[in-house]
Amino acid sequence: MTVFFIGAGPGDPDLITVKGAKLVERCPVILYAGSLVPKAVIQRAHPDAQVHNSADMDLDEITKVYTDAFENGQDVARVQTGDLSIYSSLAEQTRRLNKLGIDWKVIPGVSSFQASAAALGQELTLPEECQTIILSRASGRTPVPDKENLKSLAKHEATLCLFLSATLIRKVVRELSDVYPQNWPVAVVEKASHPEQRILRGTLADIADKMHEANIRSTAMIIVSKVFAIDDFVDSKLYDPTFSHACRKAKVVELEKEISNEQR
Ligand code: SAH
Repeated sequence: MTVFFIGAGPGDPDLITVKGAKLVERCPVILYAGSLVPKAVIQRAHPDAQVHNSADMDLDEITKVYTDAFENGQDVARVQTGDLSIYSSLAEQTRRLNKLGIDWKVIPGVSSFQASAAALGQELTLPEECQTIILSRASGRTPVPDKENLKSLAKHEATLCLFLSATLIRKVVRELSDVYPQNWPVAVVEKASHPEQRILRGTLADIADKMHEANIRSTAMIIVSKVFAIDDFVDSKLYDPTFSHACRKAKVVELEKEISNEQR
């Protein structure tokens, strides 16, 4: 018996992995995070499967679903939003399972920051301009360690993807304004990959008002990055004709070899 932690993806039921979908189809017990995992993902379940919604359960109640299934020798599909590596409470659940001697495995999913980048049609790294993405959140009811405060993260000028921060947008803007000019670009994607997806583009100067006007308060990704404003970046090395890598030899280097052979 195994508990499979499955990343359900950002909302579109087709964005679960094939592996995750197959497990949802075959596991006799399903426990899904009803607040964000769409019903369509769970509709793949076998008609006889026991389906539980974890939205109003606490950790003890969730653990009880696992221990009951363990006693019955039934695999569990534990379906959660996005990918399990980010704000998923995976660690506290697996710590309990380890203590109980129950096997578990993680099946990755498409995270909402990736779905948001896709909705924006935006590569979040650009050659020689920005090579780092920071995934974080604003500090609110859930504290963030002071060493990870937004001001210090912003100093890197990396692409900043903020989860769980929509209601804290004014605080986010205040903190980032200590480091960036007011025209620093910000995009917000609400419900990326859902039919009702909405996109806002703005700057530190206007994004909070735009979010307020649009009444965007949850299930939103805030992406703060200069990449939205850079058009004149250089081409990457990946497809550069003068650059060799494991899969392709540089054409120019080959040409140089030919010339030196001819000269010999
Ligand atoms: N593990 C999830 C994140 C869970 S935390 C993942 O990998 O995506 C919940 C936060 O994720 C929300 O507050 C919001 O910031 C973000 N989020 C989840 N689904 C989203 C979606 N479809 N569009 C935009 N943001 C989303």
